[in-house]
Amino acid sequence: RSITVDLGERSYPIHIGSGLLRKIGERCREAGIPLRSPLLVVSDSEVAPRYLAEVEASLHEQGYSVVSHVIPAGEASKSLTVYEEVITTAIQAGLDRSSAVLALGGGVVGDLAGFVAASYMRGIGFIQIPTTILAHDSSVGGKVAVNHPLAKNMVGAFYQPMMVLYDLDTLSTLPPRQVSSGLAEVVKHGLILDREFAYWCREHAEDLLALDAEALGYALERGCAIKAVVVGNDEREQGQRAILNLGHTIGHAIEAVGGYGKFLHGEAIAIGMAGSALLAAKLGRDQAIYEDTVSMLSALSLPVRLPAEYNEDELMDAMMHDKKFKEGKMTFIVPDSIGAVSIVNDVQQSDVREVIAQLKKEGS
Ligand code: NAD
Ligand code: ZN
Repeated sequence: RSITVDLGERSYPIHIGSGLLRKIGERCREAGIPLRSPLLVVSDSEVAPRYLAEVEASLHEQGYSVVSHVIPAGEASKSLTVYEEVITTAIQAGLDRSSAVLALGGGVVGDLAGFVAASYMRGIGFIQIPTTILAHDSSVGGKVAVNHPLAKNMVGAFYQPMMVLYDLDTLSTLPPRQVSSGLAEVVKHGLILDREFAYWCREHAEDLLALDAEALGYALERGCAIKAVVVGNDEREQGQRAILNLGHTIGHAIEAVGGYGKFLHGEAIAIGMAGSALLAAKLGRDQAIYEDTVSMLSALSLPVRLPAEYNEDELMDAMMHDKKFKEGKMTFIVPDSIGAVSIVNDVQQSDVREVIAQLKKEGS
């Protein structure tokens, strides 16, 4: 399976399939990366022991010189400190303007390695090799960044990869919670633009959670294709691309307040998507949107409620600091129905506060 992200001169392919890791060397040759230029593979401490050797072997086989930098697994590595360490490795290895950075891992590795590629010598080649379900989202679209202690993804760039090589075999070793977390972004793509696909996800939730190859291959292809279309129409988020942020305003606040890592990214945005559906009801949309959204997320073993210990004031504060906040009003992506959303620029803070209270009340 292959999808193209259509961005004129910067268009690139997403290859999705089995056995792609051992073809990486060939793909780099086809992409025109010269053998004299060293390649830098960035991976993390969970992924590297499982898959790095295969990637290195494939590159060596073609005659590339390769240096690998393995970061500690986890969001904390998406930092300016680790960024500098990877840059140091790149300089020491003598990467030049024709070199490329290969990101072997999930969204953390992809975002960090992508920002290294975007900034090293003002930009060198970049290849995404996602190994999580969530990374079907993060590896497509060219947003790369590291976190600042005060704000997530605050230092970054738009920088498109040369290609995305998505080897589904790597997903077999993902921990179950990471599977669910990634599926939150998959179903998000259905919720924003593809009603049928959103319901399909609910119907096939068990297969997806069990990593059934056929179901997962289809879901990731649909997810990537929807993301590719949105990015192709609005690369720099001047308008419609913002719909991809469904659930993210509340989700990012949950991540920030809970400390990075308490809820996984997909779990936090699942709660955020439930919140957007509550907001939709408040703004006059059908209550059934909330019920269907919750049933889809629950089927995928995702949380839809906010634990009681989350403080409303802290969450509101975190949202004020979010870059999506402008001139006293808040911007939210609000579902109009399952499979269609609007960008609403004048959401009242009081409504958001009520939604948060409701997210806590519905459960615990
Ligand atoms: P992650 O990269 O931390 O991976 C999750 C965990 O799974 C890590 O512990 C990792 O070591 C482990 N892992 C990865 N692949 C594995 C495998 N095949 N087998 C076993 N373990 C494996 O997190 P993620 O969920 O992939 O990505 C989250 C990050 O992505 C966040 O930082 C988020 O901000 C970012 N993100 C970016 C974009 C974007 O457009 N750039 C979009 C969405 C999310
Ligand atoms: Zn996300």
